[in-house]
Amino acid sequence: MTPTLLIIYTGGTIGMVKDPLSGALQPYPFTDIYKLMPVLRNFDYRLESVSFDPLIDSSNVTPSFWVKLAIVIEENYEKFDGFVVLHGTDTMSYSASMLSFMLENLNKPVIFTGSQLPMGVVRTDGRDNFINAIEIAAARIDGKPLVPEVAIYFENKLMRGNRTSKFNAENFNAFLSGNYPLLAEVGVHIRYNTEMILKPNHQKLKVNKELDNSVIILKLFPGIAEIVVKNALNITGLKGVILETYGAGNAPTDTWFIDALIQAISKGIIIYNVTQCKGGAVDMGKYETSMQLGRIGVIGGYDITTESAIAKMMYLLGQGFDGEELKKFLQQPLRGELTL
Ligand code: ASP
Repeated sequence: MTPTLLIIYTGGTIGMVKDPLSGALQPYPFTDIYKLMPVLRNFDYRLESVSFDPLIDSSNVTPSFWVKLAIVIEENYEKFDGFVVLHGTDTMSYSASMLSFMLENLNKPVIFTGSQLPMGVVRTDGRDNFINAIEIAAARIDGKPLVPEVAIYFENKLMRGNRTSKFNAENFNAFLSGNYPLLAEVGVHIRYNTEMILKPNHQKLKVNKELDNSVIILKLFPGIAEIVVKNALNITGLKGVILETYGAGNAPTDTWFIDALIQAISKGIIIYNVTQCKGGAVDMGKYETSMQLGRIGVIGGYDITTESAIAKMMYLLGQGFDGEELKKFLQQPLRGELTL
């Protein structure tokens, strides 16, 4: 059967054009993808597209954008075999992480892609990214999708979405999956790393639309002032903190710092320890500088990325989890986002 795919264009450089007056890049709506890229007719797939209104630069992504995107997938889930999401690169890792949590029991491909140069530029990377993302979203083995998960395709690499970070603002090779192998490598052949791809569970898709953004990311740096940490942890209504620590989860041992964390934890705020490094994991207790964090009740995030940690926290809080249950889920892989 001919695979049918839905292309969801949300904005981003891939579809941008230069504003003649200001010279700045702005999203441009495309209604007919075959007109935009006649080469797509050569595919033996049926492609349909929807365009967001308004189209956005992904720096303007919000929780309501994620809900809108999840609803488009939910409403079209039965009609299509897979989805390609065209999205700006700046926050693509956040969106792919969030969608992986929102789309529970996902059994079809949701492949995010975008580009560093707009489609209209001769040297664009968008064309290759788009075409390969389509090919991957349509790929089947024994009639079943090869990649039934939320992934990012960019510059010859297919990565689990919730394992990625944008690490380069200029190179075509812009995304990194520091702690998880590539799901596929693209050259003359597309070589799928099938062992590493999530298996379908054949259950009904459940779309979790409640998100709670009562969260912050607190990135440590040498010299961080007491008042900054205390004020951040005293924000009214704060429920979750992603604490970006050094190396294997290490933080200052100053009494004022530890006391500020203890106070926040005593108010029920969950502190989730993730590393600033792009590879490797939090290992609380490896050094004296992290042992204390574990003792006072900071939760270790293993090798989760910051993007995935903030998405997971918003998702779990949105589902109403708190206390011990929330801590338990934060320390378990829910969508392959961390390795124990
Ligand atoms: N600012 C753009 C965006 O994220 C950059 C891109 O698409 O690559 O929407």
